[in-house]
Amino acid sequence: MNESRSRIHYFDNNATTPLDPEVAAVMAEFLGRHFGNPSSLYPIGREVKDLIDEARQEVASAVGATRSEIVFTGSGTESDNFAVLGVLDAHPDKKEIVVSSIEHPAVLETARYVEHKGYPVRYIPVNTEGVIDLDFLRDAVTARTALVSVMHVNNELGTIEPVAEAARIAHEHGALFHTDAVQSFGKLDIKAGDLDANLISFSAHKIYGPKGVGALFIRKGTDIRPFLHGGHQERGLRAGTENTAGIIGFGRAARLLRSKGAEDKKRIDALSDRLREGLRERIPKIRFNGPSELRSKNTLNVVFPGLEAEAILLALATKGICVSTGSACSEDSEEVSHVLTAIGLKPEIARSCIRMSLGRFTTEEDVEAVLRELPEIVDKLREISAFDPDEEEE
Ligand SMILES: *Cc1c(COP(=O)(O)O)cnc(C)c1O
Repeated sequence: MNESRSRIHYFDNNATTPLDPEVAAVMAEFLGRHFGNPSSLYPIGREVKDLIDEARQEVASAVGATRSEIVFTGSGTESDNFAVLGVLDAHPDKKEIVVSSIEHPAVLETARYVEHKGYPVRYIPVNTEGVIDLDFLRDAVTARTALVSVMHVNNELGTIEPVAEAARIAHEHGALFHTDAVQSFGKLDIKAGDLDANLISFSAHKIYGPKGVGALFIRKGTDIRPFLHGGHQERGLRAGTENTAGIIGFGRAARLLRSKGAEDKKRIDALSDRLREGLRERIPKIRFNGPSELRSKNTLNVVFPGLEAEAILLALATKGICVSTGSACSEDSEEVSHVLTAIGLKPEIARSCIRMSLGRFTTEEDVEAVLRELPEIVDKLREISAFDPDEEEE
């Protein structure tokens, strides 16, 4: 793993983060020692149950919650589905939901799914920096609204949303409030109390933990029905034998945030500033999407006017540099990112955006590699595409 790390320059931490070596070690040791089912009453089962509860305490402490408010799930996606569907299920008298238009597909597609089933859904628009329109929200929430869902930090732009205000508006109308905090966990100081959310989604693999495990914070007293039915795991809220090693890894990853989080942020912010300024100096005519202030600095979303983002991505990949395109291009569609569309970018501009996201293991050498390779790549692509930088003005 270390060998491959020295050859690749990884700038896609918002898609997934490398497993922290300490998390990997804890998981390996657990897997070597324990196979018991945490629901079993004999010692090898009880031991695993105790370890799961320790991990639950670690996650709870990292987000300012109590242990009984954390339910482990199979992913951030499952937590989001659980929040939306579980609340609607528990409130048959309230049919409406309100979600932001820049939610992760885990929320947005769940909203579309219930919309098809006949539940009215309102989508909150955002400004050019990706910040939700609170006045729209005020008008959209009614006494029939079951849930308002607004993400904490957007995964494509890094925009920090005004979730405390959004929660207050939801609560004024008697609606519950959910926030997808998958991208803010480990980047902002999360205090479940301050966010004033009833439900908060988390995922382990965005905080240097393993893939395939998430958590949903459910504030005491929140009325929600289970999403998965079966056994009585997770106090009857999430059936299915636990992903034990994954949960143990999640717990350690959460604990490491407390010891490494502040230092990570300082380093990442400095590296990100350096990358941003370096690109600005070396590549004419680029722009940055998202706000410069209320943003998770680890995320840089860059417009290369006139160029295809995918061409840039593939050229960078040949140099061992991993980035992501702003457009969620799937093979069979020309679809562009709903987030970039929501901030008002024309499709051809949205298709020329690259996202670079930094993390705990990003080094100065990684940043230097981008600053060395990217200007040359852009020059070459501009030559091929006969791009005239002086022509492109909005
Ligand atoms: C990655 C991500 C998810 C999905 O989490 P998984 O554990 O990969 O299912 C949800 N929301 C946001 C904002 C994300 O970045």
